[in-house]
Amino acid sequence: MSDKSLWESCLKSFEKDLPAQQFNSWIKPLVCEVSDDIITLTAPNTFILKIIQDRFLIDITKLAKNSFKKTPRFEFKVGKKTVSPNTPISSVFVPAENIQQDTQKTPKNHSKLNGSLAFENFVTGKANQLAHAAAMQVANFPGTMYNPLFIYGGVGLGKTHLLQSIGNLVKKENDLAKICYVHATNYVSDVVRAFQTKKFDEFKQFYNSLDLLLIDDIQFIADKPGTQQEFFYTLNSLIDSNKQVVITCDTFPKEISGIEARLTSRFSCGLTVAVEPPGLEMRVAILLQKAIILNHPIQEDVAFFIAKHVRSNIRELEGALNRILAYAKFHKENITVESAKEALKDLLSAQNKQVSIENIQKTVAEFYRLKVVELLSKKRTRAIARPRQLAMCLARELTQLSLPEIGNAFGGRDHSTVLHACKTIEMLRNTDQAFNSDFNLLNQTLRN
Ligand code: ADP
Ligand code: MG
Repeated sequence: MSDKSLWESCLKSFEKDLPAQQFNSWIKPLVCEVSDDIITLTAPNTFILKIIQDRFLIDITKLAKNSFKKTPRFEFKVGKKTVSPNTPISSVFVPAENIQQDTQKTPKNHSKLNGSLAFENFVTGKANQLAHAAAMQVANFPGTMYNPLFIYGGVGLGKTHLLQSIGNLVKKENDLAKICYVHATNYVSDVVRAFQTKKFDEFKQFYNSLDLLLIDDIQFIADKPGTQQEFFYTLNSLIDSNKQVVITCDTFPKEISGIEARLTSRFSCGLTVAVEPPGLEMRVAILLQKAIILNHPIQEDVAFFIAKHVRSNIRELEGALNRILAYAKFHKENITVESAKEALKDLLSAQNKQVSIENIQKTVAEFYRLKVVELLSKKRTRAIARPRQLAMCLARELTQLSLPEIGNAFGGRDHSTVLHACKTIEMLRNTDQAFNSDFNLLNQTLRN
């Protein structure tokens, strides 16, 4: 039987029996060649190959047996390379039952996945659409698309949630995949312990044998050259063998300080995506969903009330919701805008000390190492004009002042200048990643 017809009949049979998503993800990418009694299956990466061996090999063998007189032997390849002999994937036929998960010891700080942080309860909107889509792609096709995937953004905006969701989905698709979620501070502790106990081989072996490494808040390896060196090797080794790495960080790669350039440039060689502070409607959607998960659905007007007053991040939103639910339970009241107002009284009075325009000017000036007087001056060099426009735009978002009032506070400028500044900043945020990241950082700092 020719390779083509053998494989075509295999494909037909799998297509009939499997859900489309599984067929498209695992079976369709395979290439099959037959010579004598050897069937060579080539997968785009070791991850897919492992899944084929774990889940589908017995069926492929059955189908192949129908075409061969004796049991065929299998050879496996990844991409153009033959799988090296020291990988757990054997180059000869191994019945799927014999493939077991590597049970070697894991470093002490290696935490478990948190099953409650899943894609199913991640609300999407403009602020996180791209990050969500990239995370889904990576979870469905680990090691093949964006490697590493680098997710950055401010605190409480869903980075850890996305990271865990990737792990949970990959685990669901393939229970045998070796997945490690680790917070960067724990990774640092692992490195230190490996040094102390002289168990570097074990450490390396563990990290290099992963199918999926999820490392959270990578900024915490800053100023730790030993850890950075180790991480550089691990990252290269995993990426070179098509194992997926996902990294989160509070800022985008080129902005991280205290991390070697070779590492930050490696961070950006896959795909870099941002999570941004959610807009009002998205905050409402998140609240409505969280309330359902907590078994206490709330009315939309209550959600709008909370979302209007709690703007900094999603963690704060959750905190406010929990407070409202606890208040209503304690007072045995229904949840209304009135009871929500009561429950959040302290929080709101603290917040009502609105962000002042002086505070915005001072913060932006400090950030760009300028003097406030320069920001308010007539000087129009870019180094001053840009921060000035940014400060005007923030004043528009964060204060109740009108355009003429803002213009006035910036050295007696016209309202059209403020409007132009807001448009320029909007455009820059869409085209310049570094600038957008500065904007988000300042915005969040001022809101907190
Ligand atoms: P980060 O890691 O960016 O600081 P987290 O992922 O810890 O933020 O998110 C903070 C909290 O907000 C978590 O409880 C998380 O489940 C929730 N959260 C964040 N983003 C979303 C979202 N888009 N939909 C639902 N919940 C979210
Ligand atoms: Mg986090």
